[in-house]
Amino acid sequence: MKEKLYTIPLNDAVAAGDECPLCFAERKIEQDALDFTLGNSSSYMEQDIRAMTDREGFCRRHFKQMFDYGNALGSAWILSTHLRAVRRELEAEIAAHRTEGKKTSAEGAAGLFRKLRSRTEETGGAPVGRRDSVAAWTAAREKSCFVCRQIENTKKRYVETFFYLWQKDPEFRRKIEEGKGFCIPHFGDLCEAAQRCLDEAEREEFYRAVFRLMQDNLARLTGDVDWMIEKFDYQNADKDWKNSRDALQRGMQKLKGGYPADAPHRMKK
Ligand SMILES: [Zn+2]
Ligand SMILES: [Zn+2]
Repeated sequence: MKEKLYTIPLNDAVAAGDECPLCFAERKIEQDALDFTLGNSSSYMEQDIRAMTDREGFCRRHFKQMFDYGNALGSAWILSTHLRAVRRELEAEIAAHRTEGKKTSAEGAAGLFRKLRSRTEETGGAPVGRRDSVAAWTAAREKSCFVCRQIENTKKRYVETFFYLWQKDPEFRRKIEEGKGFCIPHFGDLCEAAQRCLDEAEREEFYRAVFRLMQDNLARLTGDVDWMIEKFDYQNADKDWKNSRDALQRGMQKLKGGYPADAPHRMKK
């Protein structure tokens, strides 16, 4: 069974006991994806990999991580051909934009209305009005990232592994139920996946357990953050920090996922 492959890293993530086991697993997935993209294996010099990075590009978050990674030459190779690919796309987009502009004025109001309606249907009925074709292209580019895609694919299988263990391994379930819960985004991923991974009775049981877990742990974190504020009062200067010393990064993680206090992931020399 494919999901079984991830039982060990997922159990490790749960054993780490931090604010979200899926964040813990995702950090490793992201670091592996970055190592694969820019690391010592030099996969970026392989034609098929470069064809993918040329086409997909990277999001702002992963460009920043690539910048910090410390392989300037590797990044430059990737950028050099990706920039060329983007220029080719832009050329085609500009040509299409010109043709579309001419068509719109020739067709007049009826044509414009048709276009407006079809674009609204494309967005599932959202009232966006007429979308500029070049703006639509930049928006699609914005969503596309070679590293994000690798992370998404692996993350999906981690979530399936989670439900596999939740059903088959009472010890795993106990650890989750006694753990610190999840960050809000990963909590959402689990609630979503429960729809396809569990039957109705199991789902009810799962929701009952995780809803309570999330309520309790958000309350715990609120207490940690509040005590951090109290600690700034000179009257509390000598009092114990309790669990509040790192409440800021844990609170941010709980709300949005990730590790704000992490140092950048760098290339191993
Ligand atoms: Zn998380
Ligand atoms: Zn990305």
